[in-house]
Amino acid sequence: MALFTYDLHVHSCLSPCGDDDMTPCNIAGMAYLAGIRIVALTDHNSCKNCGAFFKACAEYGVAPIAGCELTTAEEIHMVCLFEALKQAEEFDRAIQPYRMKLPNRADIFGTQPIMAEEDQIVGEDPYFLPAATTLTIEQAAELTRGMGGIAYPAHIDREANGLLAILGAFPERPVFGLCEVRDKASARELSGGRTTLVSSDAHRLTDFGVTFNHIELDCGEDAAADEITRALFQKLRSAEAET
Ligand SMILES: [Zn+2]
Ligand SMILES: [Zn+2]
Repeated sequence: MALFTYDLHVHSCLSPCGDDDMTPCNIAGMAYLAGIRIVALTDHNSCKNCGAFFKACAEYGVAPIAGCELTTAEEIHMVCLFEALKQAEEFDRAIQPYRMKLPNRADIFGTQPIMAEEDQIVGEDPYFLPAATTLTIEQAAELTRGMGGIAYPAHIDREANGLLAILGAFPERPVFGLCEVRDKASARELSGGRTTLVSSDAHRLTDFGVTFNHIELDCGEDAAADEITRALFQKLRSAEAET
């Protein structure tokens, strides 16, 4: 068993609200400098920069997690994480029909570049990524879990797009054994005994390493990235089932 620093909610420049310098290589490099061992890339409704992020993390010895932050039909933000990059890429394809085809106004909201290795821009998502999908929170959690992922509400202590602000309380279904808070202090009061993850929801490089959060995993301190990922998912799955 060892303690690992983690941040499971980070946006790249693909999210229109993410800074242009939040490139996959810069995020991996910054995580390394800040001493964060496990980082999940969770762009709004897209996993398209995860492949480039995995390559960048391999250079720096950071354990990368593939995922996204899905906007449900209720406008709730939900973190979806996958143990394998391939699963995230399949999930990305699966959610396309549920996205709203609202053209992105890059001049207002920011650009949405898709990157390959070495931060090369290979495309742009034409539709505004954070727009609500037509998936209800129950459908979204079912879809994520059905494809092998972990799903839990993001920043439940935030007014905008937070589950508690929108629904008033945790719903009976879907069952959430996990939740995310931004401020550790509010976790006990709001989580209702659920396992709580504290992540940065970083949109800028300077948002990294401001606070450190640790998770105890069943692997050695010097474990390789794939071993750390396996241990993390084992932990998240057991927490997800615990309600
Ligand atoms: Zn959010
Ligand atoms: Zn976010």
